Amino acid sequence: MVSEMERVRRKSLLYRSGLGFWCVNHVQGCAHGCRYPCYAYLMARRYGRAEDEADWRRPRLVENALELLERELVRKRERIDVVHLSLTTDPFMVGYPEVASLSLALIRCLNAHGIRASVLTKGVLPPELGEARFDRGNTLGISLVSLDEGFRRRFEPGAAPYRERIGGLERMHAAGCRTLVHMEPYPTPSIVRQRIEPLLGAVSFVDELYFGGWNYSPLPGAPELRDGFYREQARIVRAFCRQHDIRGTVGP
Ligand code: SF4
Repeated sequence: MVSEMERVRRKSLLYRSGLGFWCVNHVQGCAHGCRYPCYAYLMARRYGRAEDEADWRRPRLVENALELLERELVRKRERIDVVHLSLTTDPFMVGYPEVASLSLALIRCLNAHGIRASVLTKGVLPPELGEARFDRGNTLGISLVSLDEGFRRRFEPGAAPYRERIGGLERMHAAGCRTLVHMEPYPTPSIVRQRIEPLLGAVSFVDELYFGGWNYSPLPGAPELRDGFYREQARIVRAFCRQHDIRGTVGP
């Protein structure tokens, strides 16, 4: 198949994010088009890197990403243990095999330099990540806040169906990789009616779990209802993690 994907060139790739960890974003935009809304899209619009949602959902591959990463890793004087893919795009974007190929090449490059990768996707983790050429210290994660496909179509329209996402993560677990589920932004009942227990049960095999609330939007409802709801969900999450020997973190 001939690739239709647009390409851009960058002057640098590797950076330390405001959250304190190292990161690479090798695609501009994201076809998943999440509507919580997506913080990366809000920032891209504010700083003129995306005109509107349609423009954001037309991803452009950073064609010199691998070359930049190689050069920057050789020149870096600071010690780097882990690099995250990605904060402002999705490394395994649905419908874009070029993105997946580049992500795999970047992870391989990091591992060859003795650096672990932490990966987070709303796509499907490819089986290649379970191969011996990748470092077993990589953390491979999916974002997952619901099992309701109606919710996904409304808020994560371009992302992978939940069962496929979980299936990819299960394959990584079976291959002996370190797995993570990122449950943020978890929706309140004013957004979708659901119980958290089946969602937790679907990923009980993971090594790490992060749980966080829904920000950047009035949708979660009044603070007094919202805060009580999140306190109760956090209690359930902590108990579940203890019971299943999962390293759990509860965020804001
Ligand atoms: S997958 Fe991530 S980067 Fe892509 S639109 Fe959704 S929240 Fe934004």
